[in-house]
Amino acid sequence: MMQSPAQARRPLRINSSAYPDYRYPKRELVVFFTLYYTNDMTKTLTKHDFFDFIIRFGKSRLRIFSLFTGILLFATCLLTAEKAFSSDTIRVAVLKGIDSVRIEGTGLTVSDESGRQLAVPLSFTVTREKSGLSIRGMNARSLLVAASGGSLIANGKGFRNAVEILALDRGILVVNELPLEDYLAGIINCEISSQWSMEAVKAQAVVARSYAVFQREARKSMPYHLESSVLDQVYGGSDLEDSRAVRGVRETAGEVVTYNGKVIQAFFHSSCGGHTEASHNVWAFGFPYLQGVDCRYCMASPSIAWEQTLSLKKIESLLKKSGYGISGLRGIVPLSRNASGRIDTLSIVFDRGSINIAAVEFRKTVGYSVIKSTSFEVRSSGENLVFSGVGYGHGVGLCQWGAKKRAEDGFSYREILTYYYPGTALDRIY
Ligand SMILES: [Zn+2]
Repeated sequence: MMQSPAQARRPLRINSSAYPDYRYPKRELVVFFTLYYTNDMTKTLTKHDFFDFIIRFGKSRLRIFSLFTGILLFATCLLTAEKAFSSDTIRVAVLKGIDSVRIEGTGLTVSDESGRQLAVPLSFTVTREKSGLSIRGMNARSLLVAASGGSLIANGKGFRNAVEILALDRGILVVNELPLEDYLAGIINCEISSQWSMEAVKAQAVVARSYAVFQREARKSMPYHLESSVLDQVYGGSDLEDSRAVRGVRETAGEVVTYNGKVIQAFFHSSCGGHTEASHNVWAFGFPYLQGVDCRYCMASPSIAWEQTLSLKKIESLLKKSGYGISGLRGIVPLSRNASGRIDTLSIVFDRGSINIAAVEFRKTVGYSVIKSTSFEVRSSGENLVFSGVGYGHGVGLCQWGAKKRAEDGFSYREILTYYYPGTALDRIY
């Protein structure tokens, strides 16, 4: 199995190769005392040994003070090391294609691809040069920045745990590696509002955890597991964490949605507009738990209906940019709709004829935030086309605004999840 760069280099982890039986970090303290006290790893220490050690060592208060300070620092290092890279971390691409990244924070440990530690001030800038990355006059292919204080700032945004900085063909990629549960606490206010009913917050936490766990497995050999945009799940770092978001994550800790015992691909969207969509209508792959269900609950959401006016020229230019060889666009006609009411195929009518394209392709071409869903009508208005539709997003899986209303009506997060993902169950993975 390939290792990701951060997994290959773990500068904070204590080398335990001398002790094959070593498994648990807390045992480091026992190892420390054993070596110091007896120089014999086979001896089992008792409480008596410990106090005897203290008395023999502590001839003066200063030495006792020094000893305990040392132990405290040692334990802090261990906890930081364990927190920095636990097995339940997730790798999220948080900045992509940028020319430079400014890092700020106290207690930062920076190392390059060979594991060499670099001395850095409280803030420093990494730039993309021809040879790779440049940091304070030195070159590197990749850098690992670990925050012993728990968090750091990259280009003005707070991130937990550690970031890896990599040179792309064009620009810089910054990957945030952090404990999965911390990631989820940051996601809530990017995807919904933590002020929504707690059952809706918990449903979002479980769905986001399930989605992340599924993608982590699917992309385990990739440099990162998740995008931080609507391509996966929106994530803006730790700045948007709050107590309600943390509560929603903690009260569902380790819970994921499963189908036949396997974590599902838990797609979700903002609002469906009356009926969620079958996954095979959007991506050409189908799952039994993503067939689409009725959902009138989102119809009360403030932005359920939308209208967009676009000039024929603008649409034509966007279609051309995407490789459609049309000239003289006259109009767009929905040809067929699927069971959820969304448009399946559109006819693009132009001077010399017409072509048929999938509505999901048209939405991608014009922009996901411009044509908010494929559930729309279209009419001509002079040199413009007016699109009026309902819902926001691809419509597959959980409907966030529907979940909000269901939570307000007294449904539990478990009931909400099994409604939008029929035939599934909730399981704990840790
Ligand atoms: Zn809905």
